[in-house]
Amino acid sequence: MQLLLMGPPGAGKGTQAAELVKKFSIPQISTGDMFRAAVKEGTELGKKAEACMKTGALVPDEVTIGIVRERLAKDDCKGGFILDGFPRTVAQAEALTKILDELGMKLTRVLNIHVPAEELIERAVGRRICKKCGATYHVKFNPPKSAEACDNCGGELFQRADDNEATMKNRLGVYEDSTRPLIDYYKKAGVYTEIDGRQPIAKVTEELVRVLSAAQD
Ligand code: ADP
Ligand code: AMP
Repeated sequence: MQLLLMGPPGAGKGTQAAELVKKFSIPQISTGDMFRAAVKEGTELGKKAEACMKTGALVPDEVTIGIVRERLAKDDCKGGFILDGFPRTVAQAEALTKILDELGMKLTRVLNIHVPAEELIERAVGRRICKKCGATYHVKFNPPKSAEACDNCGGELFQRADDNEATMKNRLGVYEDSTRPLIDYYKKAGVYTEIDGRQPIAKVTEELVRVLSAAQD
């Protein structure tokens, strides 16, 4: 299955991708995670991405498309993948269509997790991530058993530098201007499904799995 999880920042893409990885044994490809890893390692890519990420702007299309092209060509994507946070512009979506064409693949389904803007800032500001295994928590909506440590691996939890109110407002503006138009792009392609992301995490997963089971029939 070649899946694309769409939705505004904080909608629950990463949280749901982690569940779908377990369920379908296909890799999650998160451009945000790839950029954060590059920033941490201090690579050239990290240097290019860091300034954009700090303000909530998008990393330039040519940089982003390049890393996704390389990633999708890897062997572990042959049996499918879950894209999370890419594409975010129409140019990226067009490039993705071309890359998949070249690889002889196409998207099985585009799942858009819909959450109203007013709920997204609280979700992002309360987000906590495990430094070791990447598990995502929320201080109120999905709290870890201990405020300091990951339930899965005991790793230290941290807050993303861009998960503050000011940057989130920019990220939501960027979403409206650059990413929302993709809804029409994928509606036209006939692969689009919208999921109500205001439901509890387990309910959203249930609904995603139901849609995907029907897509496989
Ligand atoms: P995204 O990858 O779309 O930016 P995340 O999956 O990281 O979003 O989720 C953002 C925050 O919202 C996290 O703290 C997560 O625990 C929380 N969250 C995710 N899904 C839900 C949900 N259905 N209801 C409430 N909080 C949620
Ligand atoms: P995310 O982890 O998906 O919330 O992304 C964090 C940040 O990484 C974004 O605010 C952007 O600066 C950058 N980023 C992630 N994915 C993309 C993308 N597809 N195109 C451009 N920038 C991206």
